[in-house]
Amino acid sequence: MRLDTPTLLLVTVIVTFVVGTLFLLSWSQDRTARPLAIWGVAHVTGAAASGLLALRGVIPDAASIGLANTLMIGAYGLIWSGVRAFEGRPLRLDLALAGGALWGALCFVPDFYASLAARVILASAIAGGFCAAGAYEIWRGRAEALVSRYPAMVLLGAYALVYVLRIPLALLTPLPTNQDVMQSAWLAILCFVGMLFTVAIAFTFMALTKERVERVQRQAAETDPLTGIASRRALVAGAQALLAGSDRPVTLLLFDLDHFKSINDAHGHMVGDGVLVGFCCLVQALLPPGALFGRMGGEEFACVLPDRDVESALRHASQIRAAVARLSVPSLPGLAVSVSIGAAESAAIGRELDALLRHADAALYRAKRNGRNRIEVSAALRAA
Ligand code: GH3
Ligand code: MG
Ligand code: MG
Repeated sequence: MRLDTPTLLLVTVIVTFVVGTLFLLSWSQDRTARPLAIWGVAHVTGAAASGLLALRGVIPDAASIGLANTLMIGAYGLIWSGVRAFEGRPLRLDLALAGGALWGALCFVPDFYASLAARVILASAIAGGFCAAGAYEIWRGRAEALVSRYPAMVLLGAYALVYVLRIPLALLTPLPTNQDVMQSAWLAILCFVGMLFTVAIAFTFMALTKERVERVQRQAAETDPLTGIASRRALVAGAQALLAGSDRPVTLLLFDLDHFKSINDAHGHMVGDGVLVGFCCLVQALLPPGALFGRMGGEEFACVLPDRDVESALRHASQIRAAVARLSVPSLPGLAVSVSIGAAESAAIGRELDALLRHADAALYRAKRNGRNRIEVSAALRAA
């Protein structure tokens, strides 16, 4: 198979331009997504650079060599800058554009411009450096688990390697003269690899952006916005997984703050919100590791204690009850908070979450009826 450089360059121009336009179109849907805009400009710049390279011999060398490579290196700088924007770090557009500017400025030095090897080595070092730096930025952000991080890192790393390899090769193998540069196998290979890279990196960057949006939406659905603890949906999912995942006893505790309506009425909704947040902080501090805690709705909360029989769970419950009853706010001397708790254990009731919730709710109802600020355990458990 023969790779025809002019054809490859033409295809590269079209593909890179289309990819750049798609990035910009995506950005126009959400103007806050700055990385998409930067990657879009990078690809359109890369397309312009490839177009100028393709016109070698047709337009003046200053444009097809000097300007083309300056733009191409700038495009790699922008890819790196877009990755930084994606990771929430400063864009450093100055550094991103400095590489291309340096290469372009050196073209005015006759000795540099006359040496094809020097031009190739510097361009490869800067472009490869930006790719490697991009891979590093993505690796640094790995605490945010996005699957596409790994292909993005591999792609940028591999492309950096191609450029690094080009440096010794520029020294060891004879480089084509200006006349037959379009016949150069290296240029054809770089064009081909470059085109594949453009398409692959575009897919990966788009996937990264989409994965992040999905992750943020999932986290929002799994978190209660007021208290920051698990939402009902997340708690139910976690509890079901836990119940299905082992045979060890699991205890469910249901909490309902006492006379909470009166707290709102007497002190206002804001104070009520503060009490809910304070209650959650306190419970989280007192729960053992591995416990799931979430807001079922309003002033009702649930906790699933894995590997705990009811005695051990009741010890935690009674610590929580006592600590809540001690809650006080110096500026609100009339504020009294207490919680009623209902408990149900899997050994007596079975491992169906609905059944556990029903029994814990019945126990909670009894705690309310028997005077509040107390803990009741499921009748099934008492009978067992
Ligand atoms: P009981 O001891 O029987 O549980 O009495 P209660 O007043 O706590 O029960 P009730 O269910 O009548 O009232 C619950 C109140 O909780 C009513 C509602 O306005 C309030 N509430 C629910 N969600 C929130 C919230 O997010 N913030 C605030 N401040 N209040 C809330
Ligand atoms: Mg209630
Ligand atoms: Mg209540």
